[in-house]
Amino acid sequence: TKTEPFRNEPFVNFGIEENRLAMGTAIAKVKAGLGREYPLHIGAEKIFTDAKITSINPGNLDETIGYVSKADRDLAEKAMQVALETFETWKKVPAAERAEYLFKAAALMRDRKHEFSAMMVLEAGKNYAEADADTAEAIDFMEFYAREMIRLSGINETMPLTPVAGEANKLTYIPLGVGVVIPPWNFPLAICVGMSTAAIVSGNTILLKPASTTPVIAHMFVALMEEVGLPAGVLNFIPGSGAEVGDYLTTHPKTRFISFTGSKEVGLRISRLAADTVPGQIWIKRLVAEMGGKDGIVVDETADLDAAASAIVASAFGFQGQKCSAGSRAFIVESVYDEVVEKVAALTKQLQSGLPEKNFAAGPVIDAGSYNKILEYIEIGKTEGRLLAGGGRAEGNGYYIEPTVFADVAGKARIMQEEIFGPVLAIGKAKDWREAIELYNDTEFGLTGAFFSAVEERIEEALDTMHCGNLYVNRKCTGALVGAHPFGGFNMSGTDSKAGGYDYLLLFTQAKMTSRKL
Ligand code: GLU
Repeated sequence: TKTEPFRNEPFVNFGIEENRLAMGTAIAKVKAGLGREYPLHIGAEKIFTDAKITSINPGNLDETIGYVSKADRDLAEKAMQVALETFETWKKVPAAERAEYLFKAAALMRDRKHEFSAMMVLEAGKNYAEADADTAEAIDFMEFYAREMIRLSGINETMPLTPVAGEANKLTYIPLGVGVVIPPWNFPLAICVGMSTAAIVSGNTILLKPASTTPVIAHMFVALMEEVGLPAGVLNFIPGSGAEVGDYLTTHPKTRFISFTGSKEVGLRISRLAADTVPGQIWIKRLVAEMGGKDGIVVDETADLDAAASAIVASAFGFQGQKCSAGSRAFIVESVYDEVVEKVAALTKQLQSGLPEKNFAAGPVIDAGSYNKILEYIEIGKTEGRLLAGGGRAEGNGYYIEPTVFADVAGKARIMQEEIFGPVLAIGKAKDWREAIELYNDTEFGLTGAFFSAVEERIEEALDTMHCGNLYVNRKCTGALVGAHPFGGFNMSGTDSKAGGYDYLLLFTQAKMTSRKL
């Protein structure tokens, strides 16, 4: 319950038949409702537009998930006006009351957990465990940020300002205004919910532009917030194209902040557009950006090599490598190189591709654009490394690609440097663990990393020298838990915003000091 300290939502064990069956039932239920039309939500109005985004199942291209209404500039402007107006009332709602909507939504989502996960199995191509982890993280974000807002609102009691005789001094975290929230498709529930509710519970109103490949699961969240009674106009749902709606709102004078998760290219473009001031704009827009990664795992000769190989495979191929946290690189010291490489290749070959709803380990990638880009990188890889597993498309009526491993890849190779965002792993050889760390650090990104070793002094040094926002020892580099592993990285990986951390809500607030003479 909400009076208890935050705890992570446990993952469902799909090794247990009952749980598999429960997910199967939820998938059947969600399937029965596919193909519906979804409206925009602007204030209390639900608007169905003629133009629609058609969301399809990337694992079965004949299956349409839904038809989602599409905003244009006029509708985006209308949503902005509603959000501006609603901000005037929402910002006055006490923090505890705002938090209450998140607690309620978290409880309802927990009750219907499998349904949310099932929608992601179908719309995003996640297997059961990946979808369940996504839903669990969404619940976590709401539980965590609700508590965080309550904590921040009581900061003067828990962390009082330095006392000065004859003065009563206070710090209050007040909201910013209207924010544009642009989440990614790879955690289409968790990150969408986390980014949205952090902004909302802080007292802002938002314009949510979901990813165009996963708008239906985003709508499920919007409907949930409506169900718990979140006042109309706080969360406005405006799917649309980045070029039209995204750019329009990024350059809008009344946009106070932009919260973005996605590719480096789009993040940098938003950063440029948002940096320009336009007539009528009286602030510097704030940008919170979580971008790409070219993350990796370093293995020395003292490491548990089986554990290292499993972690490399899990980090590289979980959700087909479509995570910013994915371990798309591995650096292994010479003396154990062949052994680890063999183990990795063997484990990778065991990953069977197939329909997410049948819970295959390897599913499809998200869309045709990704599919083609990844296949191109695989061709580049064939000229840059030794192909050990996979190497092309896989069977199925969808965007299936074989989990692919290249060994003997040089540090400067394109597949070692460029984010592929797919099931492609590049392995490099190092003469020793220090050189392996150097290779690991040779990147413009800095999101996640892992170090495998049994030697304490090396671990200490690795903890110091591997330059990334989320560094793990003797485990995989994906799967950050809210509260436990605040998530966000350095350099081109973004603005080092730490989702699921104690300083995250500060990004959506501004601190106001008041000093009263007594
Ligand atoms: N937080 C996720 C993880 O630790 C990754 C999020 C992302 O890919 O954006 O695996």
